[in-house]
Amino acid sequence: MATGKLIVLTGPSGVGKGTILRSLLKRHPELYLSTSVTTRSPRPGEVNGRDYIFVTRAEFERMVAQGELLEWAEFAGNGYGTPRRPVEEQIRQGKWVVLEIELQGARQIRQTFPSAFRIFILPPSLRELEYRLRHRAQDSEEAIVRRLERAKTEVNAADEFDIQIINDDLDKALDRIEAALFTPAEAVGV
Ligand code: 5GP
Repeated sequence: MATGKLIVLTGPSGVGKGTILRSLLKRHPELYLSTSVTTRSPRPGEVNGRDYIFVTRAEFERMVAQGELLEWAEFAGNGYGTPRRPVEEQIRQGKWVVLEIELQGARQIRQTFPSAFRIFILPPSLRELEYRLRHRAQDSEEAIVRRLERAKTEVNAADEFDIQIINDDLDKALDRIEAALFTPAEAVGV
C-alpha cells in the first residue's frame, strides 16, 4: 500500500506561513492540510472547521489526556494541537499531509515521525516581522509582544529543520519549497 508523507511548516507568527500555504495548496490541491484544534478565540473572518476547530480548554485537555493529538503546544496563552486520526488516515491512503505548527509541536513530530520533512520559514529580519505583526492589527499589544518574544526563540531554532526558507518574495519562497518537496533527491545530488 502507498504510504504518504508528512510535511511540517514552521516559522514565527507573522512570517507569512498562511499566505505561503494557501499558494502552495492552490498549486498542489492534492496536498492535505491538517486542521488544528485551538483554545484561542476565532479572529474576524475565521471559520470553525476550516481555519481551526475551536475548542474549550476542557475539551482540549480531554483530547491531550486521551492521546487524540499527534502533537500539541501552548502558544501565547492558548493550546494548539493536531488531531491524530485524520492525519494518520490520510497518510495511510498515500496522501501528503501538511501541518502548519509552531516549534514545540515540530520538535514532537521529529520524535514521533522522524521521516517528516520539516520546513522553517524565516522573516527577512526581526524588524520586518514586528512590522508585519503590527500591520495586520489582529492582536492586542500584549499578544504582539508575546508573539515577538516567541519569534526570537523560534528563529534561533531554524537550524533544526531540513530546510530554511526566507520569505522575502512569495514566488521565490514557493519555488524553493516546491523544489525541495517535488524534486527527487537523486536529481539534486542529495
Ligand atoms: P495563530 O494563533 O496565529 O493562528 O497561531 C499561533 C501559532 O500556533 C502559529 O505559529 C501556528 O503555526 C501554531 N499552530 C497552529 N496550529 C497548531 C497545532 O496544531 N500545533 C502546534 N504545535 N502549533 C500550531
